[in-house]
Amino acid sequence: MKYVVLVADGMADRPIEALGGKTPLEAARTPNIDLLSTYSEIGLVQTTPEGFIPGSDVANLSILGYDPRQFYSGRGPLESAGMDVSLNQGDVAFRCNFVTFRDRQKGYAFGELSPRVFLEDHTAGGIGDEEARGLIDHLNNLLGSDQIQFYVGRGYRHLMVWAHGASKVECLPPHILLDKEIFPFFPHGSDKGILKKLIQSVFTVLSDHPINEDRIARNERPANGVWFWGAGKEAALPPFSTRFAKRGAMISAVDLLRGLGRKAGMAVIDVPGATGSIDTDDAGKVTAASDALEAHDLVYLHFEASDEAGHAGDLPLKIEAIERFDRQIVGPLISRMKEKGPWRLLLLSDHATLVATRDHAVDPVPFLLCRGLVDKRGERAFSEKEAAGSSIFWSEGHRLMEHFLKA
Ligand SMILES: [Zn+2]
Repeated sequence: MKYVVLVADGMADRPIEALGGKTPLEAARTPNIDLLSTYSEIGLVQTTPEGFIPGSDVANLSILGYDPRQFYSGRGPLESAGMDVSLNQGDVAFRCNFVTFRDRQKGYAFGELSPRVFLEDHTAGGIGDEEARGLIDHLNNLLGSDQIQFYVGRGYRHLMVWAHGASKVECLPPHILLDKEIFPFFPHGSDKGILKKLIQSVFTVLSDHPINEDRIARNERPANGVWFWGAGKEAALPPFSTRFAKRGAMISAVDLLRGLGRKAGMAVIDVPGATGSIDTDDAGKVTAASDALEAHDLVYLHFEASDEAGHAGDLPLKIEAIERFDRQIVGPLISRMKEKGPWRLLLLSDHATLVATRDHAVDPVPFLLCRGLVDKRGERAFSEKEAAGSSIFWSEGHRLMEHFLKA
């Protein structure tokens, strides 16, 4: 038996007036998902336990079959595992976004952070790898020390490691701070002053960097700041293969998911050209998934674009991303699976990302569990409504994996 888990990041949403009360998933044309749905068990799953902030870290930990209440130790260590950065005892790892700060009066031309400065963009205008690398190098040269090091990831997503850093520090994710003045949201907890000072120093160092001057000249948002969040220390996960007696492989363009896979002892497969952005190489991912199933029992394929579109608050782009997921991932993968003998497929959104708020939500998400194209259950589309109308609800999301593998 071969198993495929397909996760469309942030695909779930709520009814939207402009769509006549439909959700983006309902409005999108998804013939391949709908075909699967005809043969599938459909229900809702609560991937974010009560008291947790909904995010891909917690949600994908649940989907992989690990109870976040027992195994979650922060996002930073997962990101660092995805980037192959090893942490020493006492190190605190932070996800570090390049962001765009803007002054309500002075635009980008302001001398230092003030109460008027707000967070304009948590992706720094979707900065590319090359420019980001230049800025991370610059930060390490000027601000790096025995205590503080920056590590380059991809696009706007990077890592900062603070040796013997504060153990209790609370930092909010930047995607929930869009358009908000930043001062009230600076990190708090023990040693918060160091992080606050670092954020201010980074601004001073980046605001007039030639890369940013060029970006502004090109009418692109500058990466004039960083935002630290997801603090955590190294913690081990028991291997997926011992928990479920299945050899798993992870395919994702984002370091967080790659880190989760690595921590769970799965093979983490590189797909050149898979970037997590709109121009990512979907065909390469499908081929990699199909190849990985030769040597592994389970492939976990993560698709990022639906979440990015949600954070951008771009409804047409979110619908397009879902349609692309259907057309370029789900469809070709079904064709490949048909050649592989018996297979099962779990398709879901990790968490909801609402176009209306540009933020994640704790809503339970719809899933479909397909045991091959046999036993037709009647025509039906796959949607939040359809899933809510079913009597199936996994209130503890981490239990779904076990069900999927034995069902
Ligand atoms: Zn997101």
